[in-house]
Amino acid sequence: MQGNLQVRFGRRAIREKGQVTLVPRPAPYLAPASDVWKLNRLEWAAKTSMLKTLAAKHRSRVSHMARKYQATVDTPHGKRNCFEAVTERPGRKPLIARFGGIPLHRQKKAVIDDRPAVPAPARKELVTRFRKGRCEWCQQYAAMETRQVRKLADLTRPGRPQPAWAQRMARMRRKTLIVCVPCHQAIHAGTLTAVTV
Ligand SMILES: [Zn+2]
Repeated sequence: MQGNLQVRFGRRAIREKGQVTLVPRPAPYLAPASDVWKLNRLEWAAKTSMLKTLAAKHRSRVSHMARKYQATVDTPHGKRNCFEAVTERPGRKPLIARFGGIPLHRQKKAVIDDRPAVPAPARKELVTRFRKGRCEWCQQYAAMETRQVRKLADLTRPGRPQPAWAQRMARMRRKTLIVCVPCHQAIHAGTLTAVTV
């Protein structure tokens, strides 16, 4: 099994050696199966979905997008059609986003290189943090309040430097910060000073 088959299904781009490959996620699991060719239908659905998205973004048509991005790629089973977007970069290898071009041939000896499942975050994490009764900023034990932002992206918005508490939340990847009342007030007043613990 080629390494690029480990990439996830969908439009999310995973960079690997300067190349982005988008393939149906189930491919590596079904590669040893005799009817792996059935993935063609899945590939068709994913491909159509991608082309429709591109067409919507570029205010164009699916057929135009298919023509614009069509390309061929060499595989151990010969040339295959695929879709490709290439960004040239001076002095570096071009960045290539590619969809398809993977021969759906049965590979009896395919090795499934599965990634361990990421455990779901504990749902009660916030409650647990809150119950500790300890300020996540100044580490004092006191009555706690919760500082909350709408989304994580708000914490890392480019353009202006983020206050220290926002940087902390971004590092924790949490939209909440459990803080004591004085710290919470200081956040709102914009006077929260950095603490070193
Ligand atoms: Zn505090």
